[in-house]
Amino acid sequence: MTVITRFAPSPTGTLHVGNIRTALHNWMWARAHGGRFLLRIDDTDAERSEERFVDAIRADLAWLGLHPDAEERQSARTARYEEVFEELRGAGHIYPAYETAQELDLKRKILRGRGLPPLYDRAALALSDAERAALEAQGVRPHWRFRLDHATPIEWTDLIRGPQQFDAATMSDPVIRRADGSWLYMLPSAIDDRDMGVTHVVRGEDHVTNTALQLQMFAAMGATPPAFAHEALLTGAEGKLSKRLGSLGVDALRDEGIEPAAIVSLLARLGTSQPVEPMLDPGPLLDAFDFAHFGRAPARFDERELAQVNARVIHQMPFDAVADRLPAGMDAAVWEAIRPNLETVAGAADWWQVIEGPVDAPAVGEDATYVAQAAEVARTIDWAGDPWHALTNALKEATGRKGKPLFLPLRRALTGRDHGPDMAALLPLIGRERAIARLDSNSRA
Ligand code: GLU
Repeated sequence: MTVITRFAPSPTGTLHVGNIRTALHNWMWARAHGGRFLLRIDDTDAERSEERFVDAIRADLAWLGLHPDAEERQSARTARYEEVFEELRGAGHIYPAYETAQELDLKRKILRGRGLPPLYDRAALALSDAERAALEAQGVRPHWRFRLDHATPIEWTDLIRGPQQFDAATMSDPVIRRADGSWLYMLPSAIDDRDMGVTHVVRGEDHVTNTALQLQMFAAMGATPPAFAHEALLTGAEGKLSKRLGSLGVDALRDEGIEPAAIVSLLARLGTSQPVEPMLDPGPLLDAFDFAHFGRAPARFDERELAQVNARVIHQMPFDAVADRLPAGMDAAVWEAIRPNLETVAGAADWWQVIEGPVDAPAVGEDATYVAQAAEVARTIDWAGDPWHALTNALKEATGRKGKPLFLPLRRALTGRDHGPDMAALLPLIGRERAIARLDSNSRA
């Protein structure tokens, strides 16, 4: 069996962290099994769907490295939906209903008032042909409901949630098509999953009830349903579904300097029993990916954790992967020297400034004499070898200083900062002329 998964966003907005995670897991499952990953644009809602969002979704997936094997669009498949609709209607699985939204609302209110669940009463099913004809003669156009089979229990073993059971008699027959002929999400999705040979539906647990209904649609179509994995939803770091999380998308993350590999590394493992491991290459993440590792509790997404994973990803990135985003002139030696101190690739510009200068050195104060001495020593050492150790060894011997008093005034005078990359790597990059000039200017301070 070839594994086929699909990511099925509605193009009514851009992707946010929650649906990036869904896309990622669908992609991972397909890739881990040598299968196919489909992008299905759920654009049956013509009013709310926008082409710019379709483009943004494609671009975001590409940036994340989640390349679909094929793309499908629901708006291009309406003739197929019509065909299945007619089949199901002919077989009595679909029926017309004539209530207005206000009437349905009133019915629900009455039931709730009596302490009963607000189930649709199937009044439309009880209409005679003559009654239906009379309504249509008055110009009332029906919407369409899928008739649930109350006799068959709904059961499946969810790959994350385990055994699931629903009683169709406790559910309303879902509306699948509006009076104007437009489609609701439920039936087209089941038709697509069947036609496209989808083997695994991976989506948020907000779709569990839909799955119960869609399983009956698969049965009505005489189709074998796919396997389902419903993931616990993401919450913000505070444990709540934060507004920020719902709007946090690829653009914002990229602007903050977050790398695709950091997003993939974190979201691959968030909510699972496995540790988050920053990985440049998703290969090992794919090998270890299994729905059995997912928990049922909501997974917490913490932007600070993402920033940490991001830094650890950057610390592994080779020069070639970042070269086009570095300041002009920065070479592999510089990148490797500063990389361990970066939180974002853009931060490289700061260290490039430290190397190229000019740097605003903080006053070294009482260390001015020591720095002056360092300037003299710097004129005598061999700059071709390991100038930092040559410089500090000579100064140690001459002054008896060691540890922080030996190193810190030099770091300050040479870089203008108290912290930063390993000086042994940095000093050769600053080079003899600039280093001596910086030491000189600080010795006069
Ligand atoms: N378009 C639906 C959504 O975005 C798809 C759900 C599904 O994966 O079936 O919620």
